Amino acid sequence: MTDLISMTIAEARNGLANKSFTSLELTDAHLAAIEAARALNAFVLETPDKARAMARAIDARIAKGEGGPLAGIPLGIKDLFATKDVRTTACSKILGNFVPPYESTVTSQLWRDGAVMLGKLNNDEFAMGSSNETSCFGPVVNPWRREGSNSSLVPGGSSGGSASAVAALLCMGATATDTGGSIRQPAAFTATVGVKPTYGRCSRWGIVAFASSLDQAGPIARTVRDSAILMRSMAGHDPKDTTSVDRAVPDYEAAIGKSVKGMKIGIPKEYRLDGMPAEVEKLWTEGAAWLKAAGAELVEISLPHTKYALPAYYIVAPAEASSNLARYDGVRYGLRVPGGSIGEMYENTRAEGFGDEVRRRVMIGTYVLSAGYYDAYYLRAQKVRTLIKKDFEDCFAKGVNAILTPATPSAAFGVGEKGGADPVEMYLNDIFTVTVNMAGLPGIAVPAGKDTQGLPLGLQLIGRPFDEETLFSLGEVVEQAAGRFTPARWW
Ligand code: GLN
Repeated sequence: MTDLISMTIAEARNGLANKSFTSLELTDAHLAAIEAARALNAFVLETPDKARAMARAIDARIAKGEGGPLAGIPLGIKDLFATKDVRTTACSKILGNFVPPYESTVTSQLWRDGAVMLGKLNNDEFAMGSSNETSCFGPVVNPWRREGSNSSLVPGGSSGGSASAVAALLCMGATATDTGGSIRQPAAFTATVGVKPTYGRCSRWGIVAFASSLDQAGPIARTVRDSAILMRSMAGHDPKDTTSVDRAVPDYEAAIGKSVKGMKIGIPKEYRLDGMPAEVEKLWTEGAAWLKAAGAELVEISLPHTKYALPAYYIVAPAEASSNLARYDGVRYGLRVPGGSIGEMYENTRAEGFGDEVRRRVMIGTYVLSAGYYDAYYLRAQKVRTLIKKDFEDCFAKGVNAILTPATPSAAFGVGEKGGADPVEMYLNDIFTVTVNMAGLPGIAVPAGKDTQGLPLGLQLIGRPFDEETLFSLGEVVEQAAGRFTPARWW
């Protein structure tokens, strides 16, 4: 019997098309894998009945030769995506048992194309975090462990459930979102591929908002090809999201295997940090050599405002979050904690419903937007954002096709190890990824090697606006050179 859970989406697509197995068999195999992997805490809600019903329906469609591009493929959905009649919480107590009466645009496009939903995946509360430790459902465990150790590592965040589930073969791919690195950092920590599309490429409608000018949905998958397959279904114009862009969705998969000969790849000198682990530095050099061997030209570039990106992000993102999260007041959805007056009810609800990190962001955001501080913080951060964007534009104007950087400054770390005393320690995880959100650009994280403890490390490629195709072509070159990495099963 074929091993039904370790296939790629591309392989499963072929198997389903030539009737080697059914979607129901494929779905059942994944449901069994999920059940056996509860120790990872990757799923916050399993939807086996819905999954089987969807699989049966798609099997009937496949039999009639009517399956779509994702016909019969079982996926996991980050709990930030509203799913009709299926509990959606953003992993926050404040949403309680909220069951949306509507479906997010991105997930509705996946179902339109024939995918099957296995359940909802864990994430940091409201997607605020880099380790999946802020979830009200508790931390997710990374299927990867340090060699010779059995201590639990984080899968990164905020899309920690998505990354962990895809790496552990619990689903063939997953949806994720990225506001400052939440797709690419967990992908790098778990040896999966994560794509943060250009701002406006995927609709944000029906996704719980964190920082609306930065949020983008994207896929996490096990190969570059699989992420391209998922992207094609997720992307597209949506009149319900005014920031979504009306532009044809290319066949991203067709970019795989395209020659990268003559492409100019920028290596930004500002990303060479003091104290960066030697193995990250080495991997970066190796990645550049792989692209060069494939015919690309490597050029040193400068992105001079890089050092201001993280501080500016931690003004813009909390500012937008404080405004977006104002709607959780105990009146309309989720938790309500009574009080003597309506004001007290708001206070009690929000104090009880939000976790520490979310409260911190709301307070910072409210502060930087308040009269008297707005110009000093928020307005200045917006100006810095423009300069960061201009740094990239200047490089692209000089003919640079894409930029190669490490995805993260380190490999996965232990549960409870970072950010306890100083939240900035956690924020530093996103040092290489936030710039991309600030500039609205597409980025991909591809597994590229391992550190001395046997943990995966990833490289990031940053592209021109709406040129995800180049990232898929280059990403596949890295994947071919590096090989694929699978964690040894212990759960
Ligand atoms: N780690 C970053 C933050 O906490 C980014 C999170 C994300 O991309 N959603 O803000």
